[in-house]
Amino acid sequence: MKIEKRFQGVAVSPGIARGIAYIYRPDEELPPRRTVTDTDAEVVRFQTALTQTCRQIIELRDRVAQSVGSGDAEIFDAHLMIVEDGVVTGEVERMIRTERCNAEHAFHGVTQRYAKTFSEMEDAYLRERAIDLADVERRVIHNLLGRDLAGLGALDSPHVVFAPNLTPGDTAQMNRAYVLGFCTATGGKVSHTAIMARSLNIPAIVGIHDVLTQIESGDEVLLDGYSGLVVVNPTPATLSEYGELQAQRRVMESELTQLRETVSATRDGRRVTLSANIETDNDVWTVVESGAEGVGLFRTEFLFIGRDDLPGEDEQAAAYRTVVEAVRPHPVIIRTLDLGGDKLHDILHAVAEENPFLGWRAIRVCLERTDVFKTQLRAILRASTAGGVQLMFPMISGLAELREAKRLLDECRVELRVEGRAFDEKMQVGMMIEVPSAAVIADLFAREVDFFSLGTNDLVQYTVAADRGNEHIAHLYEPTHPAVIRLIKQTVEAAHGAGIWVGVCGEMGGDPVLIPLLIGLGVDELSCGVAVLPRVKRAVQSLDGGACRALAAEALECSTAPEILARCERIARANYPELL
Ligand code: PEP
Ligand code: MG
Repeated sequence: MKIEKRFQGVAVSPGIARGIAYIYRPDEELPPRRTVTDTDAEVVRFQTALTQTCRQIIELRDRVAQSVGSGDAEIFDAHLMIVEDGVVTGEVERMIRTERCNAEHAFHGVTQRYAKTFSEMEDAYLRERAIDLADVERRVIHNLLGRDLAGLGALDSPHVVFAPNLTPGDTAQMNRAYVLGFCTATGGKVSHTAIMARSLNIPAIVGIHDVLTQIESGDEVLLDGYSGLVVVNPTPATLSEYGELQAQRRVMESELTQLRETVSATRDGRRVTLSANIETDNDVWTVVESGAEGVGLFRTEFLFIGRDDLPGEDEQAAAYRTVVEAVRPHPVIIRTLDLGGDKLHDILHAVAEENPFLGWRAIRVCLERTDVFKTQLRAILRASTAGGVQLMFPMISGLAELREAKRLLDECRVELRVEGRAFDEKMQVGMMIEVPSAAVIADLFAREVDFFSLGTNDLVQYTVAADRGNEHIAHLYEPTHPAVIRLIKQTVEAAHGAGIWVGVCGEMGGDPVLIPLLIGLGVDELSCGVAVLPRVKRAVQSLDGGACRALAAEALECSTAPEILARCERIARANYPELL
């Protein structure tokens, strides 16, 4: 009998999953060197993979040319040239014959050599060819192995997924029916992978380094997304203990669902709007089910991730309209593209950066790629006739960016008027406050927008200079750091001084422990993942507005994060221990 093993990590998405483990290692796909006896057959195998690769690249090129134009499709011509290059393929075939090695090994060896030469070149254009080569190599090797590039999307039966790391792109491909839960070795609570898990309602745990060396695909596992515990090969006693726990949780979840029709207000009647964060138009039915009063953050970048071409204006307008119609009469805040940081943007052919979170991200990408940005702005404007659309710009750090973004929006309005296309002339336009510089000059921004939404995930990471996804410095990532609390207070005062509303759409807004503090600081709206929304409503309804204000006043006098956190925990425990 197999021995039960337990591992403790960080719980990032609630729920209990029981099933069979599937180990996913997307970056370790190269099989070891193998000696082949029939080298002719191996060369044929290699040539077949090349033909298949050519076909895929041509299909991709044509699709991209159709949806965004031939300029963007040129990259695939470069890829084709590599596959069709007789020098490279000739070298691989020679290596297979002389070294009697498998095609994967030979192709990897040759492409690595060329990639090294390219990456050392002075010329930036030629340096970028190293990236093309890596892309082509990945495709050929997948074809040699008969693997699907769809990654986790290719799972065809329910499993609990274990991986060194998952990108937001991997998570976006997950089929909820086949991924019962997942566990990664790295990552943090507010990484986009964790956020996706909460929004897809998939139990998830991050930060268990040793589990991958002690588990095999096919092992039975239990994953507790409430406490962060993974049990490999659970004994009958453990399974029955968890069966009971799961039953208790179900009772509580069903009690919480009954709050759906109730008003979100504190005991003494202070209204706090409760909205949902969503990542794709597929999630929208969960918004209505959760009892949210609209969508406080629609992260549109997930329409762009996990595909090889850019979504066009019609496709985007249709996706936005689906969400708006489902949520009507409540509003939907559509955030413009926030690619970059930990969200891959191969699709825009960005080069690798030393500091992606401080680099070419979000509004910075959009103000440069105005073709991509204006396509999105036009799509959002067009969808605004379907209901209460509001638009929000991410990662604004200074007034010039906001003004330029608004100018491009005006340009789109003019174009649509000329084309005779309708849109909501009164659509509210807001911005995220997630860069400390924006919080500090929130009074200047407040005159130029209709609302603020505090993106605390980034606001915390940029204020304390601690990468939100890096578990090695997770202890420094403190949402209750006095600097963060002061920035939130300053933002709320600036908003209210100018007569506009302010919400929180970062993960702080969905954390029952921090809700009393946010209410006390005066925020008007909390927007969170649907998985936690009923808990947030229960928390709001259990609190007293006066006590929250007193807590905020006290917190502003504290000098350290743990002191503030302890005060928040005290209030939360006194009012809703069952939620903690
Ligand atoms: C945030 O930064 O808090 C936020 C809501 O945006 P994202 O998590 O997508 O960066
Ligand atoms: Mg952000």
